[in-house]
Amino acid sequence: MFEIIDRLAQESNLKDGEFISLLDCNDTRVNEYLTKTARRVCDANYGKRIFIRGLIEISSYCKNNCYYCGIRGGNRKAERYRLTKEDILSCCDHGYELGFRTFVLQGGEDGYYTDEVICDIIREIKRRYPDCAVTLSLGERGEESFRKMYEAGADRYLLRHETANPIHYSKLHPKEMSLDYRKKCLFDLKKIGYQTGCGIMVGSPFQTTENILEDIRFMQELKPHMIGIGPFIHHRDTPFGEYADGSVELTLRLLSILRLVFPKVLLPATTALGTKDPFGREKGILAGANVVMPNLSPVDTRKKYSLYENKICTDSEAAENLADLRKRINAIGYEIAIDRGDSLWT
Ligand code: SAH
Repeated sequence: MFEIIDRLAQESNLKDGEFISLLDCNDTRVNEYLTKTARRVCDANYGKRIFIRGLIEISSYCKNNCYYCGIRGGNRKAERYRLTKEDILSCCDHGYELGFRTFVLQGGEDGYYTDEVICDIIREIKRRYPDCAVTLSLGERGEESFRKMYEAGADRYLLRHETANPIHYSKLHPKEMSLDYRKKCLFDLKKIGYQTGCGIMVGSPFQTTENILEDIRFMQELKPHMIGIGPFIHHRDTPFGEYADGSVELTLRLLSILRLVFPKVLLPATTALGTKDPFGREKGILAGANVVMPNLSPVDTRKKYSLYENKICTDSEAAENLADLRKRINAIGYEIAIDRGDSLWT
């Protein structure tokens, strides 16, 4: 196993069976070596700097019905809200003061944000803060829509593919949604010029190790600038309310593997990881992650953006507690970087 890890670090690739055995390996010494190797490769590319992104959750309305997600349209118990242009801009004003230079606008697929509405918001953020990057995470849209938002100034787009296996995809989503369309969106985003992010939930219902291997192979084809992964966490008011959560250990292992396959990728230690383990984000960084995304949403809406149960949003993951997050990151030998933190390749 140690030899496999060395070879992965050197060649950024392995044979199918080797990836599988690494993903399935829970030997402590092997995992420690994997973590250390991934961290060394991340340090070689990004140094001791961890990028921060201010996450603004703009809407809990969603027309989709993904079986895992707490804000799925069909969840009548979900509390719905949406932020206006003014709300979003005041989050950015606050975030800029705090030191954020990237704003991530994330939300359900909410028809309120037509191209006109969202482009107006993007343009105003970029007018006020030309030194900041705008990342969008608004789900699937048409190619023209992606293009208009890019022309309005958006820099990056996060759209997790969720799983690269069509059968698995169909077990996580209703039949109106298709993996082919999601993949098309990702390739369109890259073609337009966005720094593009894909990703998956680790341990989502019905996921196999072979599925994760397919995810790695898909990512090698897409060549994303960013990869978002976090453990699946059940939400009681969804069809997956009784399913087991994904494992923190497997998430950390996959983070390290992804760091070695994509040495320069922007890899967040996600909120879901921090929710499942009080030191999840620190462990994520030590396993090769180099981004954290504190919550910059208005405090009174945070609870309503409930993708999964017990989502953390008020402690060191809250943007206003940046000092706390900084301490935690310093304590493991890293520092928060105050710049846009673009991908190292284009
Ligand atoms: N509507 C946007 C944003 C979705 S929320 C989109 O479709 O891209 C961002 C991510 O949260 C999703 O891509 C999904 O991977 C993750 N997520 C949703 N429900 C989750 C759950 N129950 N547990 C863990 N992650 C979840």
